[in-house]
Amino acid sequence: MQSYTLIAPAKINLYLEIIHDRPDGYHELVMILQSIDLADRLEIRSHGTQDFRLTCSHPQVPTNETNLAYRAAQLMKLEFSEAFANYGGVDITINKRIPVAAGLAGGSTNAAAVLVGLNLIWELGLTIPQLQRLGEKLGSDVPFCIAGGTVVATGRGEKLVPIGDLDSLWVVLGKYQSLAVSTSRAYQTYWQQFSHEYVSDRAVVNSRIFRVYSGPLVQAISQKNSQKIGQLLHNDLEKVVLPEYSQVMKLKKILQQTGGLGTMMSGSGPTIFTLCQSQQEAENIKYQARQAICDPNLELLITKLSSRGIQII
Ligand code: ATP
Repeated sequence: MQSYTLIAPAKINLYLEIIHDRPDGYHELVMILQSIDLADRLEIRSHGTQDFRLTCSHPQVPTNETNLAYRAAQLMKLEFSEAFANYGGVDITINKRIPVAAGLAGGSTNAAAVLVGLNLIWELGLTIPQLQRLGEKLGSDVPFCIAGGTVVATGRGEKLVPIGDLDSLWVVLGKYQSLAVSTSRAYQTYWQQFSHEYVSDRAVVNSRIFRVYSGPLVQAISQKNSQKIGQLLHNDLEKVVLPEYSQVMKLKKILQQTGGLGTMMSGSGPTIFTLCQSQQEAENIKYQARQAICDPNLELLITKLSSRGIQII
C-alpha cells in the first residue's frame, strides 16, 4: 500500500481588486497571491478498496463529500476511471493547522494536495499545468495552491503569472477562532454595494489588469522593496467585511498601530495580517496585540512568506 505525506501551505492576498461580476456567478479579479509557511499536513494512503475515506483533526471541517479534498478525489476518479479501477481508493488524513473559513485558502490547498497525491499514487504523470487545469474545476484558489509562490492571478483567480520570490518576510496573522466569513457572501455583499462601479468593457478590464502588472506593487515585489510592499497592500473586500465585523476592524487598527510594514485583511477575511521585516518584529507585534486584546478567542500566529506550493515529504 503506497502512502504520501504532503505539506499544503495557506495563502494571503497582498492585493485584491474586484473588476466586475461574470455570467458564471464569479467575479473578475486582479489579485497578488502569496504562499505562507503555515500549512496543513495531509497523508494520502492507498488501501486497495473502491472508496475514499477522509478524516480531519479539526471538528468544524466536514468529512463528507462537501470537503474540498474529498471532492478533489472524486474528480480524479471521474477523470481517470481506469487508474481508479487499477489502484483503488485512498484514505485522506488532514492534520489542520490553517484556520478554517479564514480567507487563507485552507480548503483549496487541501484539494490541491489531493490532486498532487493521487497523481503520484495512481502514477498518472500529470504536469503542474495539467493539475492546475483540474484544480480550476474545484475552486478558484486551487490552481494557485498547487505551485504557490508570489503570483498575479486574474480571471476568477485561476490565470497565474509568477512575479517573484518574497520568502524573507515574516507575517503575523490574527483571526478570531469562532468567527467565519463566507467567501460567497462577502462577494454578494460587495456586488450589492459596489456593482455600480463595475466595468466590463474588455479594453477597460485589460487596462485595469495592465495597471496592476505595471504598477508600483509588482515593481516593489520585483525589487524586494519591503517598505513599499507594506504600504501598497490593498483589498477591496475590506470595504464590506470590516464594517460588518467591528472586532475585525478593531484588530486591524491595533495591528496597524503596533508597527510592521503594512496590515491588511486576507481574501474575504476575517484574518488580518501584518507583514514584518524580521521574526523579532513579528514576535514583538504579536506580544503587543495580545496585550491590547486579551480575548482567548483571538488566535495570533507567526509565519513566514514562502515560495512553495504543495510539497511532498
Ligand atoms: P478561500 O480563502 O479559498 O476563500 P477560506 O480560507 O476562506 O477559503 P476554507 O478554510 O477553505 O475558507 O473553508 C471554507 C468552508 O469550506 C468552511 O466553512 C468549511 O466547512 C468548508 N471546507 C470544505 N473542505 C474543507 C477543507 N478541506 N478545509 C477547510 N474547510 C473546508
